[in-house]
Amino acid sequence: MQAHLKLLDLLRNVPDATGAPVTSRLSAHRGLELPVVGRVADAEPLARSEEALALRHPESIFRGLGALSLAVGSRRIYLALREDYHALREVFARLAKGLRIEVVSIPARYPLDEPALLHLVAERVGVAVEAMCTPHVYDAIVLADVGHAVVGAHNPMRPITVAGAVARPGVYELPVGAVLEDVVRIAGGSLSPAWVALDGAKTPHTLLDGEASVDLHTRLLMVLPSAHPQVVAARMPLGETLRRVAAACTGCAVCSHVCPVAFCRPHEVMRQIKAGFGGDAHLPTPPSGVEVCCECGLCSLACPSGLDPAQICHALISRVHEEGVAKVRPAADSDGGWPMAAIEPRFGRAPLDARLRPGRVERLAVPLQGAKGQHREALMAAGDDFSRGALLARGSAGMVDFHAPLAGRVEAVDPDLGLVLRCR
Ligand code: SF4
Ligand code: SF4
Repeated sequence: MQAHLKLLDLLRNVPDATGAPVTSRLSAHRGLELPVVGRVADAEPLARSEEALALRHPESIFRGLGALSLAVGSRRIYLALREDYHALREVFARLAKGLRIEVVSIPARYPLDEPALLHLVAERVGVAVEAMCTPHVYDAIVLADVGHAVVGAHNPMRPITVAGAVARPGVYELPVGAVLEDVVRIAGGSLSPAWVALDGAKTPHTLLDGEASVDLHTRLLMVLPSAHPQVVAARMPLGETLRRVAAACTGCAVCSHVCPVAFCRPHEVMRQIKAGFGGDAHLPTPPSGVEVCCECGLCSLACPSGLDPAQICHALISRVHEEGVAKVRPAADSDGGWPMAAIEPRFGRAPLDARLRPGRVERLAVPLQGAKGQHREALMAAGDDFSRGALLARGSAGMVDFHAPLAGRVEAVDPDLGLVLRCR
């Protein structure tokens, strides 16, 4: 068997952040000489998950990036490292010696999504942005999973940053399915009796309660008191947000000034809302340009009137999508943004240290549906005991199998919660 086919076989059960096998995008572009870009660069304010994992498993990350490049057949291999991850600089320089992997230092700024990352890497290595366009961008967590898989190992734990109003904010090793009540307890408990968690810093905020669980895409959980202004804003119905804009937007254009995406001018959208206000604010016709909004939420963070233009942009984008217009995020427009260090205090929290701490969970709730509508079939019933590593659910096409990260007993197979497991 050819080397890259052997590799694909080894990686068939390694998931990407959506639950799909990482192999699904490896074969399609083989031979096109597209670059392969790895990242150790947490994309959201206060998140330190990628940094913590890289400090613990630097060799796996390099091994994973090398394996993915081999599978794709590419010799242009870059590893983007945030310039404020000082402890990793020397380690990476040592590991990169004699390899084709070029470690590229990138600034710590937000947004740091895929287009912004590719733009920064292209700029730093001195090539045109177009030459850096590639579907092969992998974060530290996928790289480490691949790095483990190619040597026949498996690490079911994910690094999750738990930030905000908890007694011990930090980066914890948690299995997929960890229930948030447990997670908050592990992080020392909430500082507020009534709390919710935001899944990441991007808009629209996904609010999670104690019964929600850690998923493959979870990187940052921001625990906030239920009355926190960001939670209140996230819960506000769109009509109320529109009414507030109509009443209180001063047209100052600070939102457009901080917006990192050229041609996306949120203050013009707000102006349209004010102009059309007749006692019942409504969503305006999407102005051209709104489809490039990357939903970073910077406009809402910066608005001096405490308004939430990002929520309105999100609603407009959804409407644009319904009309069949594809979301576009041109890499060439992504050289804006704010330093992470300037945003973190806006959340009222200090940066965390990037030590990876153990997280001992008691319960897991593992969804049987994937983020893209894929499905898993439960192979166990309520009352069944299982050992660590046992196959608990078989993935259909487009979703990997689920193996038990710990030993325990199946409590229930629930249509909404999925497999509910009690761990030993
Ligand atoms: S920053 Fe706020 S007040 Fe100023 S134009 Fe934008 S939405 Fe209106
Ligand atoms: S959410 Fe959209 S409109 Fe607001 S700053 Fe980010 S890209 Fe600009």
